[in-house]
Amino acid sequence: MTRDLQKTLPQPVAFVGSGPGDPDLLTVKALRALQTADVVIHDRLVSADILALIGSRTRLRNAGKEGFGPSLGQDAINQVIVDEAKTGACVVRLKSGDPTVFGRLDEELDAITDAGLDYIIMPGLTSTSAAVAALGQSLTKRGRNTAVRLITGHDMQGYADQDWRALARNGEVAAIYMAKKAARFIQGRLLMHGATPSTPVTIVENASRPDQRIVSATLATLPAILAEADITGPALLMYGLAPREAARTTALPQIQEII
Ligand code: SAH
Repeated sequence: MTRDLQKTLPQPVAFVGSGPGDPDLLTVKALRALQTADVVIHDRLVSADILALIGSRTRLRNAGKEGFGPSLGQDAINQVIVDEAKTGACVVRLKSGDPTVFGRLDEELDAITDAGLDYIIMPGLTSTSAAVAALGQSLTKRGRNTAVRLITGHDMQGYADQDWRALARNGEVAAIYMAKKAARFIQGRLLMHGATPSTPVTIVENASRPDQRIVSATLATLPAILAEADITGPALLMYGLAPREAARTTALPQIQEII
């Protein structure tokens, strides 16, 4: 087989997690994939700082609504990935955070396998990890919660239904993705199922990015505080967690002393 022929054989499509936005939170594997790709098909939420790491010989295609226009849906994105891969190009499908978390990954994998192509998945740091680190908190804590939920405010049908009764118990922790519009619905369901109104809910906008913002609320104040905060970037609602600010500032001098 000649070299040229080898080059045109389809290569596995790499589904790569970009992490929450800080380029230092990319995996080494993801960075290598970005720097060797012929084409990178990225989501709207992949940060500009990460796109800036991609070399000028790599073609960039924006699969977010802005790039393909508002009427193009998942099927069209699937088709773009398949068409690019069939040319033999080294294709990276770059998704924000971890590609397996609320990323419609399965639909794209199905399209790839239906087309007789291969794929690999390169995990990334989901935005929850960055958000909880920004709060100085743990996702799980002895005596508080032995489980944590990653839930979405929205699904294809509209506001997403959850096990509200379980979530309403004291000490529960959940990271709620795509929750800005659903906040009042979530609040209503949780209160209806007996959640304590003073349960902390912290909004983390642009986690890990230079414009990161942490806004404290409780279940009772959430809709009002969200409206006032005018959140325009991607944001998570960290249900059941408040920022640890006091402990953090007092802990720093001690750490310096040890060093
Ligand atoms: N796969 C992604 C999630 C995609 S769904 C991940 O693992 O993080 C898109 C939602 O993710 C956004 O609506 C927001 O809720 C959340 N999100 C993504 N990046 C974020 C960031 N840097 N800060 C806060 N929330 C973020």
